[in-house]
Amino acid sequence: SPGLYIVATPIGNLGDITLRAIEVLGACDAVACEDTRVTGKLMKHLGLSKPLWRYDDHASEKDRARLVESMQTRAVALVSDAGTPLVSDPGYRLVRDAREQAIPVTSIPGPCAAIAGVTLSGLPNDRFMFAGFLPAKDKARAEVLADLGAVRSTLVFYETGPRLARSLAAICEILPGREVAVARELTKLHEECRTGSPLKLAEWYGAHPPKGEIVLLVGPPGEQPVGRADADALLADALATLKPSQAAAQ
Ligand code: SAM
Repeated sequence: SPGLYIVATPIGNLGDITLRAIEVLGACDAVACEDTRVTGKLMKHLGLSKPLWRYDDHASEKDRARLVESMQTRAVALVSDAGTPLVSDPGYRLVRDAREQAIPVTSIPGPCAAIAGVTLSGLPNDRFMFAGFLPAKDKARAEVLADLGAVRSTLVFYETGPRLARSLAAICEILPGREVAVARELTKLHEECRTGSPLKLAEWYGAHPPKGEIVLLVGPPGEQPVGRADADALLADALATLKPSQAAAQ
């Protein structure tokens, strides 16, 4: 039925397409996509042929309004080049406008590199914060890391091979005590996930420049904040274990 369908597609391994994604891509009237060549290949692989409409969030208001208007009478699937649309990918404005026009919006969930990275890394996942791509410029990157360093969750970034070394160097400087994970080429032949201190990973990837796509994760700050009662108890413990001569010197 008419509306907008947000369809997740594989992040590398074509086997990761869901049954529902295939069903919706087969039944829709058109597919809005970032790159018609990339989506054309996926559709061909699935044995499907639909009109492919190029769309990204830089589209003019007029083009977006026309696309939303078409959803009054057509089923339009939105896909990105890989993974879940809207996750560091276009679609936010389209979804917002469709909702404003009371057009039905349906999510067909599936692969997402950030989630795959969180689950593989072994870092605490009770709370994690997805923070997209780090800025490319050193100063801006350092500022973002300093700000996010205060957040008490695992931080999840998208990263590219050529930029990884500089990001790890910045983490060494700004968040040196954290545990870090680099999840690379997820779901693909050369999938790997390395964990360790920022220094250890900076050394490793300095010697082995990484290829392919990367999720960079930074574990949460270690110490829990100490409340007043805890502080008193810790102090009492520490004093009790001091040798008499040390205690006298206090
Ligand atoms: N919407 C996508 C998703 O749901 O994961 C992300 C799109 S974003 C433009 C592309 C970035 O996602 C890459 O630079 C990389 O950081 C990450 N990524 C995508 N596929 C990946 C994979 N197979 N392994 C590791 N990271 C991946």
